[in-house]
Amino acid sequence: MSKAICLLGATGSIGCSALDVIKQHKERFSLHSAAAHSNVQKMADISKEYPNAKLALFDKDCALELQKLTGKKVLAGMEGLLELVSDSACNLVLNGLIGSVGCEPTLKAIECGKKIALANKETLVMAGAIIKEALKKNPASQITPVDSEHNAIFQCLAGRGAEEVETLLITASGGPFRELPAEKFSQITLKDALNHPVWSMGKKITIDSASMMNKGLEVIEAHFLFALPYEQIKVVVHPQSMVHSLVQFRDGNLMAQLGAPDMRIPILCAMTFPERLPLQTPRLNLPEIQSLTFFEPDLKKFPCLALAYEAGRAGGTRAAVLNAANEVLVNAFIQEKISFLSIPRGIEHCLEKIPEQGGELTLEKILLADSSAREEAKCLI
Ligand code: NDP
Ligand code: MG
Repeated sequence: MSKAICLLGATGSIGCSALDVIKQHKERFSLHSAAAHSNVQKMADISKEYPNAKLALFDKDCALELQKLTGKKVLAGMEGLLELVSDSACNLVLNGLIGSVGCEPTLKAIECGKKIALANKETLVMAGAIIKEALKKNPASQITPVDSEHNAIFQCLAGRGAEEVETLLITASGGPFRELPAEKFSQITLKDALNHPVWSMGKKITIDSASMMNKGLEVIEAHFLFALPYEQIKVVVHPQSMVHSLVQFRDGNLMAQLGAPDMRIPILCAMTFPERLPLQTPRLNLPEIQSLTFFEPDLKKFPCLALAYEAGRAGGTRAAVLNAANEVLVNAFIQEKISFLSIPRGIEHCLEKIPEQGGELTLEKILLADSSAREEAKCLI
């Protein structure tokens, strides 16, 4: 059956990879719709290639501009995104939005019983408990992870239950500062941080990789996706980024998933699992690679990873505070308003400053924690 894909974040790094996957399998996938924030030109190009695709831009002025340019109706704002997701003609939502804005569309997709290929890890970090509740209430809906580590774990698990798992081993490239001495961290520039050794990704996740906050967010993401306590989720630094993650089972078997570091591979897998379709991507040449190396992460040099573990373990709205503060501070670093080391310091400050609200966890409490953390982080800048 052909799948009609609603692609959120169509103009981003994940969006571009997803469009290539769709192009390689036009007989199996159609582009139901595409959404982005404000990139009018790229959306117009997408519309040209897929004239039947519905369009939405979050920014209302840009939506009008795109409407003029394409002569097609363009939906706007969060309402626009939600309308695309809930359209009955779409049967797979690929959420490649960046940041906490991805949460609401994921929830909507679940409520509408859609299959979701989820790249937007911030959804699970801020509201994992709420998402799990919603999935329970809407059993027709299902989340398949796109994030390469979680997609690897998903494949290694192959449906086995959490009780059979001893440990999840999430690999991390270690980013550009893996070998940089701690005393040089104060001199890190934006250009240094954007220079990821392996992956080519959007700016925000590239900075998160440099601070290892990306791995911290992924630990929390894994906790909710695979229903395992934090004690059973470990991070292993693996600079070649070819082993995408591993599952240590209780019987001593250690399963790993390997592949070229190319997001099209997990994207296609998340869109078709358990079926495997052909895909033109680079392949790993093991004799050429010769050796794969693994190290313990350095939590002193990368306090963001430790902060994420702490916030995850504390539960409640802590991870939402961590995530929102991180988003604001990373954005300020990208605008060269703060230093690299101010990112973890600022997050720690926000976690201390914003109290836990107590009682039953609700989406409203999460959204309040998110906005309070944003305010607090902005004051620091
Ligand atoms: P990019 O920054 O490259 O792209 C973000 C996309 O989201 C763009 O299409 C952007 O639109 C859109 N967007 C941003 N804000 C809004 C908004 N308010 N409303 C609608 N659309 C919006 O990000 P990535 O592709 O790198 O990352 C996307 C997600 O995937 C993140 O959660 C990331 O952690 C995750 N991920 C990414 C990987 C990668 O290789 N890139 C790997 C694993 C996970 P516009 O262009 O108009 O601004
Ligand atoms: Mg990842």
